[in-house]
Amino acid sequence: MSGDDNPSERRRADEALRESEARMRAVINGVADAIVTLNEDGIIQSVNLATTRMFGYGADELVGRNVNVLAPESRRSLYDGYIRRYLHTGGAGVSNREVEARRKDGSTFPAELTVSEIRRDQQRLFIGFVRDLSERRQFEACLDRLHKGRLDLMTNMTTALAHEINQPLAAALNYLSAARQILGAEAVPNRFAAESLEKAAAQVLRAANIISHLREFMVRGEPNKVERSLHALIRGACDLMQAPAKEAGVAIVLLLNAAEDQVLADQVQVEQAILNLMRNAIEAMSEARERELTIATSLDEGMVRTDVSDTGPGLNPSARSGLFVPFASTKPKGLGVGLSISRSIIEAHYGTIWADDNPGGGARFSFTMPLARLESSGD
Ligand code: ADP
Repeated sequence: MSGDDNPSERRRADEALRESEARMRAVINGVADAIVTLNEDGIIQSVNLATTRMFGYGADELVGRNVNVLAPESRRSLYDGYIRRYLHTGGAGVSNREVEARRKDGSTFPAELTVSEIRRDQQRLFIGFVRDLSERRQFEACLDRLHKGRLDLMTNMTTALAHEINQPLAAALNYLSAARQILGAEAVPNRFAAESLEKAAAQVLRAANIISHLREFMVRGEPNKVERSLHALIRGACDLMQAPAKEAGVAIVLLLNAAEDQVLADQVQVEQAILNLMRNAIEAMSEARERELTIATSLDEGMVRTDVSDTGPGLNPSARSGLFVPFASTKPKGLGVGLSISRSIIEAHYGTIWADDNPGGGARFSFTMPLARLESSGD
């Protein structure tokens, strides 16, 4: 005798089926996303509890009506088009779409719609999963405002700084060119002095360049990014810091181990961010017995990570929380802008920057930047 012919076994099977259906209903009603089942004509067959909460309709008001009732008037043809396109393409390219949805009271909200398809008794059914994006959008708007507030502050600060700094820079350049002329007029010009003057003039020009770039960056918001090697930028910054490091008795160690280092970067800005970290590290080690500045790179989930570590006294506990805040400084003559500028630069390059204790003693400042390969493909 087969199982189907046995009444008690059939009862058990029916019970198991009912139980599993009840479990499934509980799961469907428990999820936060609205789940709406439609037939090929767009007529709603069933909805879960979240749908009634999200749209303000009772289930009985929705079942049997066209799904367009959940869309704003102006978007209804779009919804029809959506189903037609889905039927036409077999679902390709129409899933995970952002749409505007409409509640019973007429208010609308942004939502993410994902559609999948099932077949039941020769009938094609569509299941739409609707996620309410209102909260996410509010959060994003709030972040945008915060970011904008910080950028406004930085813009004002940079404009004021640029104004103050450009004047002494221009004066220094004048004095340097006068000194060069005087030297040139000597019967036996001193070659070393002339070379030093050339170098000093180049550095003054570079400072003016940085200021104008920073100001441009603050006003423009977006840096001028080109695909380049982060290691080359680090080496460039090291070249510029070679003399001050030597003077401070600091040894620079490079451990550029990242197997890939092509990033989309604005050269002057990223070099500036690295220079700020290096300068801080050198200043922090002025009284240290061991003076070693290490710059290490590594790959970390599609990002290149750079660690700038020193063997100084480490982070001051009272300054920890305000490190990246403009004008926060523990130095007698510090301006407190280096780290906040570095942070703006790194964030404008879609990276993050943070500080912690160097495992070997001292402080460690780290930042990440996405690999150009991944950033440009939008992965
Ligand atoms: P400034 O150097 O003018 O103070 P920054 O924004 O560059 O401005 O740095 C802010 C503060 O962060 C410093 O005053 C110092 O307290 C702390 N800091 C930065 N780098 C280091 C470091 N390498 N070691 C210890 N403290 C540091």
